[in-house]
Amino acid sequence: MLYVSTRGEAPAISFNDALLAGLARDGGLYVPERWPELSRETIAGFRGKSYAQVAFEVIRPFVAGSFKEGDLSRLINEAYATFDIPAVAPLVKLGDEHLCELFHGPTLAFKDVAMQLLARLMDHVLAERGERVTIVGATSGDTGGAAVEAFRGRERADMIILFPDGRVSDVQRRMMTTATEDNIHAVAIDGTFDDCQAIVKALFNDHAFRDRVRMSGVNSINWARIVAQTVYYFTAAVALGAPEKPVRFTVPTGNFGDVFAGYVAAQMGLPIERLIVATNVNDILARALASGDYEPRAVVPTASPAMDIQVSSNFERLLFDASGRNAPAVKTMMEGLAKDRRFSLPADVLANIRKHFSAARTDEAETMETIKSVHATQNYVLDPHTAVGVHAARKLKGEGSGPMIALSTAHPAKFPDAVEAATGVRPKLPPRFADLLDRRERIARLPASTEAVARFVSEHSRAVGAAA
Ligand SMILES: *Cc1c(COP(=O)(O)O)cnc(C)c1O
Repeated sequence: MLYVSTRGEAPAISFNDALLAGLARDGGLYVPERWPELSRETIAGFRGKSYAQVAFEVIRPFVAGSFKEGDLSRLINEAYATFDIPAVAPLVKLGDEHLCELFHGPTLAFKDVAMQLLARLMDHVLAERGERVTIVGATSGDTGGAAVEAFRGRERADMIILFPDGRVSDVQRRMMTTATEDNIHAVAIDGTFDDCQAIVKALFNDHAFRDRVRMSGVNSINWARIVAQTVYYFTAAVALGAPEKPVRFTVPTGNFGDVFAGYVAAQMGLPIERLIVATNVNDILARALASGDYEPRAVVPTASPAMDIQVSSNFERLLFDASGRNAPAVKTMMEGLAKDRRFSLPADVLANIRKHFSAARTDEAETMETIKSVHATQNYVLDPHTAVGVHAARKLKGEGSGPMIALSTAHPAKFPDAVEAATGVRPKLPPRFADLLDRRERIARLPASTEAVARFVSEHSRAVGAAA
């Protein structure tokens, strides 16, 4: 399988090259040259298989030609053995919805599902090639902890992770800053998540710098993350009657990676009736689907910080597909965004998007009310991100009739203040995190400046000057 850039001006490359590159050199994102299809029988055959077995079948066509099947299967088994429970992504019935719990990994975040596999795939390829990388990433919260946990101590990768100072929870910050391994560098940026992401993008687009530090990315711009996230759409849907019955998903959305993975599953043949893009008050995607105008506004901090995003990188992948894979059209839209801070979705692109996606915005009062009412009626504690998804599902329940699966993206104990305010009960971290709040933190602080971050990366990368 080869990968092409959404902006059409970078050569097609292998899965392994896309895995190590992150962003394409023309500023675009990599997507597979075509969608692999799974037959109805193959999908029906997932029933009764383990999570790792389904992962192997779903991921295999995307890595064809890059990974030996034996290696892939071993790395998948290792990645999902780090989860607390063998089901990895279990379903829980909750009134009219089914929750798919994605927070049973090492950092209690759904990001673990992709990151645990990504780190192992990267390490494998780097060892095979005798290379090193410097991973530079931006996080709005959960990606950082999951990335640090997956990469700490890895011999062939240094990690510099940027987060917006004061805008991630204490637990999220500590999961990044308490790693003792010296290949990990957590950097607090004086700015928003969008500032952090813009700095990472600028560094990626500086080709000389990028080559010198052998820069790589693990943000959801990395295609391997999307592929790994496609798997639980299959396991959840099959458990609730697919492929015979169609299902619906509601997805708490920030950077659009998770919900785009659902779109990929649908392209591969999984009958998904509707994908609900659930946003908090940072509702650019809900506004864009309603009006066709993609127009970022100032980011507002909320109780669901992983979704406090106004420029959703992965939306570009959807624009590419929904425009009939028209790279020049995508390039024009993205240049419009860079120049005018907005663009309009062409009517046919918007119509194609609406065939699959609906969107709903949930404000802070509605988020708290959802946590409170689910706790009172179901005796189940939602985290604020999942609550945004559940609220959106209830708002749009008239659209379609299949089982509604709400992706549950974080453990409530990662957001204890919001959960306690809504329910009166302070959720507890599992015992293995008992000493997290006592561990020593190691944080660098930098202004929201590309130059300052570039200097820091150069000073801390072991790839600088290393032979390939
Ligand atoms: C990252 C994250 C999201 C948003 O996922 P995207 O792929 O960025 O849309 C939602 N909830 C939580 C808890 C997250 O960490």
